[in-house]
Amino acid sequence: MRAAMAGADVDDDVLSGDPTAQRFEEEVARIMGKEAAVFVPSGTMGNLISVLVHCEVRGSEVILGDNSHIHIYENGGISSIGGVHPRTVKNNPDGTMDIDRIEAAIRHPDGALYYPTTRLICLENTHANCGGRCISVEYTDRVGELARKHGLKLHIDGARIFNASAALGVPVHRLVQAADSVSVCLSKGLGAPVGSVIVGTKDFITKARRLRKTLGGGMRQIGVLCAAAYVALRDNVVKLEDDHRKAKIFAGSQFSLCDQVFFNINESSMISPISLCEALEKFGVLAMPASSTSVRVVIHYQISESDVHYALTSIKVALSLLLLEGPKSSYSRNTSCWNHKMRTESVIHHFTCS
Ligand SMILES: *Cc1c(COP(=O)(O)O)cnc(C)c1O
Repeated sequence: MRAAMAGADVDDDVLSGDPTAQRFEEEVARIMGKEAAVFVPSGTMGNLISVLVHCEVRGSEVILGDNSHIHIYENGGISSIGGVHPRTVKNNPDGTMDIDRIEAAIRHPDGALYYPTTRLICLENTHANCGGRCISVEYTDRVGELARKHGLKLHIDGARIFNASAALGVPVHRLVQAADSVSVCLSKGLGAPVGSVIVGTKDFITKARRLRKTLGGGMRQIGVLCAAAYVALRDNVVKLEDDHRKAKIFAGSQFSLCDQVFFNINESSMISPISLCEALEKFGVLAMPASSTSVRVVIHYQISESDVHYALTSIKVALSLLLLEGPKSSYSRNTSCWNHKMRTESVIHHFTCS
């Protein structure tokens, strides 16, 4: 990947187009089954641009999951920068939103005097905050039909859409067939250093390019980044299946579908996810607290099967050390329920997987 970056053919992508970027964008559009593509600096910018292009008229509203990345983790940019009104619909634990709830959230044109105008529905696949759940092609198609019936657009935040495609065994172009636009992260499981890409119609991408420039995301010799992204697409998509296999080994459960595993820590152990993650870091295992009781682990292609076993052992050792250490002072309110003999196996009581 580094060699491809060093050897990339480049030019000014703002002025005349960078040849490596153009080749990369054409290839992504082909793989995703859409007319055109544009490279953007981040997934957040990709989603922001997509929502803003679909909602270019002021007073537009977007329907999106209450637990979606766009709603929770993107600084509310669609409203603060784009003036787009978010209408949230409850995300089910599997990452979907009930179709009838989506339909009920669509504004009736009769109320146009006082309602914002619904223009867009957003899905997320895989759904990050729902544990990396995959959204099926059947569900996506049904939401697409609903969108068309009401004259709306469908955007998919497909940060990990290639993971969903691999886990579901559905080609990515089929999985996103119903969508008008998709944003895809190149720097997550695919392993490129920087960037995302959005796909859609030629007209959508022309507007997206203009907005990318407005937002300061027009970059010059972008071929250096697109060369890496091209290698990621060519060499790393095929490795995702193996990442999922290793995630399953980690989870020790048949429910693991993707590259992420969430596990809960038994609250009565008095061990916080933060202290467990800090302890794991000393073993060279990096994990992330996901909530006050759970930890998130992500597998990627540079993590071998023996690394997975090492991580599992490290968790056991870290937990026994933490149990020996006893509760931190912040837990002193509750020390009466502290049990020094608690076995580490009972501390992690539940692996949920995606
Ligand atoms: C990571 C992620 C994004 C945003 O990507 P950045 O490149 O970090 O801005 C958007 N959506 C989902 C579901 C993600 O996981």
